[in-house]
Amino acid sequence: MVKKIGIVRHPIYREHDMGLYHPESPERLQAIEREIESTSFRYPLIDIPPRPALTKELQRVHSLSYIHQISSTAGKNVRLDPDTSTSPKSYDAALLAAGGVMEAVDKVLEGKVEQAFALVRPPGHHAEDDRAMGFCLFNNIAIAAKHAIEDKKLKRILIVDWDLHHGNGTQHSFYSDSRVLYFSTHQYPYYPGTGSLQEIGEGKGEGYTINVPLSTGNGDEEYANIFRHILIPVGKAFRPELILVSAGFDIHKGDPLGGMNVSDIGFARLAYLIMKLAEETCKGRVVFTLEGGYNVEGEAKAVVEILRTLQGDMPFDPTERERMEDKALKRIQPTIERVKSIYKPYWKTLG
Ligand SMILES: [Zn+2]
Repeated sequence: MVKKIGIVRHPIYREHDMGLYHPESPERLQAIEREIESTSFRYPLIDIPPRPALTKELQRVHSLSYIHQISSTAGKNVRLDPDTSTSPKSYDAALLAAGGVMEAVDKVLEGKVEQAFALVRPPGHHAEDDRAMGFCLFNNIAIAAKHAIEDKKLKRILIVDWDLHHGNGTQHSFYSDSRVLYFSTHQYPYYPGTGSLQEIGEGKGEGYTINVPLSTGNGDEEYANIFRHILIPVGKAFRPELILVSAGFDIHKGDPLGGMNVSDIGFARLAYLIMKLAEETCKGRVVFTLEGGYNVEGEAKAVVEILRTLQGDMPFDPTERERMEDKALKRIQPTIERVKSIYKPYWKTLG
């Protein structure tokens, strides 16, 4: 059976440029696109053209005054925070980034593609309602989740954020909302400072923010074990109608900003576990969106391994992989047990 996998790409995403030595560079997407072009995929990838996000869609996550602040940077170079700035085309790129993730969601919900990967810039998960930060302008994934809830009437969305950094903006967008389960693994303590074990959501959203803060040095088996022993059981109990993934490649073993050790195959394995969860709970509907990742060549290879895996052409044997992970479980077990002890009042499956 042909697997229809969509990708969102557009030249404007390479025109957002924060300067010559900035790690969040247009070169990231050039490398990914080169790698895609030079790979023979089992099936052709399906292009999903992006569209600009509307102001009313941005307003579900951002204040109107902040949206005006960003729109006023059109055509200009403006510094927004110590490591985030705009170039003349950044505003247009940011609108198409948020709109691109929404288009990917629509195509997945319409069944035009089974899964999709939005290869967009600027990234989004640090963007707060009223503030740009951490290389992010608009919070693409949060805007897409709100779109799925408000326009497409979905009731349960799972966001998985495996970026090296905690997705503070995404967490805050849904902190008291039980319709969106936010699950994040991240290096901690580290930028942006949020994502501790005490942050579990509030009000109706209590128990629907799951943070797994990690020390440096974790790799393929640790991440897969965290997914297998926390994310998958909770995901099965939550029964999402759609899974969105903040796919950050700064946990890649060669990343200059990160201290993690995930290989190309490790990323494919994480995507595989999420895809299997989606097949069991929501007809396979998953949208991946690009967040960070600063080892340009490593990131490009990992993206391609994920796309191949989604097509059913994965670079590993799942049974063999499970055996390796079981053997390595004790290295990460104390972390898993601590997280379980905090969340088992909310998720019986962790008891
Ligand atoms: Zn990051």
